[in-house]
Amino acid sequence: MSSKVGKPSKKINNKYIADLKKKLAASNKTKEEKHVLKPESESEDEDNKDEEKEKEAEENEIKEDEEIMNKTFKDFGLKEDILEAIEQLNFDKPTPIQAKSLTPALEGRDIIGIAQTGSGKTAAFAIPILQALWEAQTPYFACVLAPTRELAYQIRETFDALGANMGLRCCTIVGGMDMMEQARDLMRKPHVVVATPGRLMDHLENTKGFSLRALKFLVMDEADRLLELEFGPVLDKILQIIPRKRTTYLFSATLTSKIDKLQRASLHNPVKVAVNSKYSTVETLVQTLMVVPDGFKNTYLVYLLNEYVGKSIIIFTRTCAHAQNISLLGRILGFSAIPLHGQLSQAQRLGALNKFKSGDKNILVATDVAARGLDIPSVDLVINYDIPTDSKAYIHRVGRTARAGRSGKSVSLVTQYDLELILRIEKVINMKLPKETPNKNEILALHDSVDRASAESIRQVKQFHSNRKIHRR
Ligand code: AMP
Repeated sequence: MSSKVGKPSKKINNKYIADLKKKLAASNKTKEEKHVLKPESESEDEDNKDEEKEKEAEENEIKEDEEIMNKTFKDFGLKEDILEAIEQLNFDKPTPIQAKSLTPALEGRDIIGIAQTGSGKTAAFAIPILQALWEAQTPYFACVLAPTRELAYQIRETFDALGANMGLRCCTIVGGMDMMEQARDLMRKPHVVVATPGRLMDHLENTKGFSLRALKFLVMDEADRLLELEFGPVLDKILQIIPRKRTTYLFSATLTSKIDKLQRASLHNPVKVAVNSKYSTVETLVQTLMVVPDGFKNTYLVYLLNEYVGKSIIIFTRTCAHAQNISLLGRILGFSAIPLHGQLSQAQRLGALNKFKSGDKNILVATDVAARGLDIPSVDLVINYDIPTDSKAYIHRVGRTARAGRSGKSVSLVTQYDLELILRIEKVINMKLPKETPNKNEILALHDSVDRASAESIRQVKQFHSNRKIHRR
C-alpha cells in the first residue's frame, strides 16, 4: 500500500480551488456588467432579475464549494483510528471528491459519485463505511462490487490500509480464484466483502452459511463499466436478495442512461457529487499522436521505448495476441516487459501486475482488461499501440498516467486505418491531439533489427502454441 501513496491531493485541491476562484471572478464580472446595462423594458427587467438570482445561487454554490474544499479530514469528525490511518497514508487533505461527498455520506445519505479512478474515490466511499462500522462491528457489513478483479484487489488494499487500526476484516471474492478458499474466507465473517458480481452471486447461491441479509452498505464502483460488461442481470439478482434498508453508493466515471436506470432502482433520495466533467482527461496529462507508416508500427514503438528508457510505461493493445507478441518483442530487444491480458490465468495476471507495481518490470503490455481501475501511480507514459474502437476506452487508458495531480504523457500510434477512430476520440475529449514526429534517421536505423525481433517473437509464440498442443496430446 505504501508504494501507492503520494501527496497528490494538494495539487488537485489547489487546482480545484483556483478553478472555483476563476468561476467566482467570472460570475462577479457578469454581475458588474449587468449594473452598467440598464434594462429597457419591464420584461427585460424581470429577465434580468431572474438571471441575477441564478447568478447569486451560482455564486453561493461556488463559495460553499470553496469552504468545503478547505476542510481537513479532522473537520469531518472521523474516528481517531481512521484519522491515524489517513495520516499513515500521508493523505494531507481530502481530495475534491472526498471533500464533497464526506459530509452527506457521513449523514447517512445515498451517494452518486461521478469521479474517475485516480480522484481518490475509493477512500471517499471507504471512509464513511469504516466510520459506521467502527460503531457496529458486525460481519458482512458492507459489500463493494467492482467490474474487474484487479480493481477489486485495489479497493481491498485501500480498505485494509484505512481500517488497519480498527481490526477490519476484509475479503476479496473474484472469478478465477479458488472457490473453496474464498468460501473459507467468507466463513471468517469479514466486515467488508469486495467482489466482482458473478463470483459473488456464485457464493450467495452455493456457499452454505453465507448471506448478505445483514448488509448495511452496498457500493457499486465503476458502475458504468459494471453495466458495460453486462453484469446487469446479476446486479438485478443481487439487488433483489440484499436488504432494501441500506445505504448505497454508486460511483461512475460517466452517467449513461443505463446508470440512470440503476440509480432509480437502487438508491433512495441520493446526493449527486461530481468533480470531473463527463468525459474529461486531466490537465496534467500531455496527449499526442504519431502517424505511423504501414509496416513501421513496431519500429515506432521501440523508438518510443528507447526515448523513455527506464520509465514506467503501459502499452495498450487491442488483442491478447498483440499483447503477448509485443511483450516478447520488447524482451528480445532487452526491455523489461510483461504482458497482462485476459488469456492469462488470474494468478499470472496478478503476478504481472505486482511485478509492474514493484518496479521489477517497467513495461506492462496490456489489453483493455487492465485499462480500468488500476491504480499504479507511477506510470510515466501510456502508449496506445492499437487505437481503441471505443472512445471511452481511450479515456480510461490514458487515465493510467497523470493520476492524482502528477504529470504524465500518452502517445497514440495512428496508422492510416485509425484516422476515423482518432477523429471520434478527439471529438469526445474535445481537443485535437498534437502530432509528434520522431527522428526519421533513428527510425530507419532501428527498422531492420526491430523487424528481425518481430519475426523472432512471432516464431516463439507459434512454437509455444505448437509445444502446448503436443504436450496436451
Ligand atoms: P483512487 O481514485 O481511489 O484510485 O485513488 C487514487 C490514488 O490517490 C491512490 O493512490 C490513493 O492512495 C490516493 N489518495 C486518495 N485519497 C488521497 C488523499 N486525500 N490525499 C492523497 N492521496 C490520496
